[in-house]
Formats: sequence, structure tokens, C-alpha cells
Amino acid sequence: MDFLDVHTHKAAQQKGVESIQSLSLTSDIFLAMPKTRPISIGLHPWYATLDKLETQLKYLSVLAKQANVKLIGECGLDKLMGDNLENQISILTSQITLAEEFSKPLILHCVKAFSELIELKERLKVKVPMIIHGFNKNEELGRQLMAKGFLLSFGAAILKENSGAGKLIQQSENFFLETDDSEISIKEIYKAAANLKKCSVDELKACIFENWNNLNLL
Ligand SMILES: [Zn+2]
Repeated sequence: MDFLDVHTHKAAQQKGVESIQSLSLTSDIFLAMPKTRPISIGLHPWYATLDKLETQLKYLSVLAKQANVKLIGECGLDKLMGDNLENQISILTSQITLAEEFSKPLILHCVKAFSELIELKERLKVKVPMIIHGFNKNEELGRQLMAKGFLLSFGAAILKENSGAGKLIQQSENFFLETDDSEISIKEIYKAAANLKKCSVDELKACIFENWNNLNLL
């Protein structure tokens, strides 16, 4: 069974790894989008602006139909970067609507805007799964997000001793693992997660693939 890397910015495919490369229509060119290997596509909150939203959404809705587009995103909210929060919320709302239309899960970027993200999920009554990628905050916030129906994906943060992410992995079966833009390999991340869970890497692979399959059944 393969390793699943649910969120990476690298294009290179490795043997034994199913990786979902995340591309942003704000910088990657529409016509150059891969047609066969698994990808996620969205408007990254660092680069998306309201004035280009209409055009970019048109492109996004064409691409979202492709079978290799597994997730919509990364999209989300970031209080430290990008457009003002109000505009970011509009841009995210449009992408949530699109994900619902195509029944594809969302992969989310969130920095210092978790309460706004929760509020948005509740207000829009979002039905598609919402995965928060690169979760590296404390255990309590993680639990709160899971209780609100978000799924979490963890990366290099779990390698730090006593991390919130590490504690959350010990308590949950329903999560994903990723490399994002880190140099650490997905195999290392799996190894660390298996250690935390006191299970084998093979058991963890099976568990994460089941989570992935469940996601796409919804
Ligand atoms: Zn990313």
C-alpha cells in the first residue's frame, strides 16, 4: 500500500507515494494544469485578490470537473498575509460554493482565523469534507475543530516533541499526513506518526487510505 501525501507543492512523483500536488490558479497557469496525476486546485489566500476572482473562478469551475482534481484548495483565511479578511472571506465563500457544486472536499489554509473559519462553515452549512492542512496549533484548538466536523492534516509539526499535533494524532484515527513545502519526506512523517500511535507504518497507511476513501464517498 502507498503512502498518501494529501498536500504537497512538489510536482515530482515518487514510487510508492500517492501525492496530491496543490496548485494555485493565482500563480499556476490554467493551460498548464496536469490532466492525469492527482492534484488540488484553488485560489491561495496569500495571492488571491477580489478583482481577479470572477475570471479565476471561471477557470476553477472548468478544472474542477477533471477527475484528477481531487480537492478544491488550498484556499482559506490568513490574518498575516494576503487581501483584507473581508475579501478573503468572499474569495473563500466562492470556492466553498464551487466545491459543493462539484461535491469535492476542500483543503484549507488557516492562520489566526479559526473562529472565522468555524463561523463560515456553520453559516454556509458546508456538506463537503473540510480538511485543514498543516495543523500545528495546540491540542485544544485541534479538538475543537474536529468537534465542529473539520478534518486535520499534519506535517512536519509532529516531529517536534510534545507538539499539539502529535497529541492529536495519538487520540484520533481520522486524519491525514502531508509534506506541504517541507524537505522532510512523507515516509519520515509516517514513521513519526506511527511511533506516536504505537502502530506499524503499514497499519497507518491502511488507516489513512481508509480515511481517504471515506472522504470521497461522502
Ligand atoms: Zn501548502
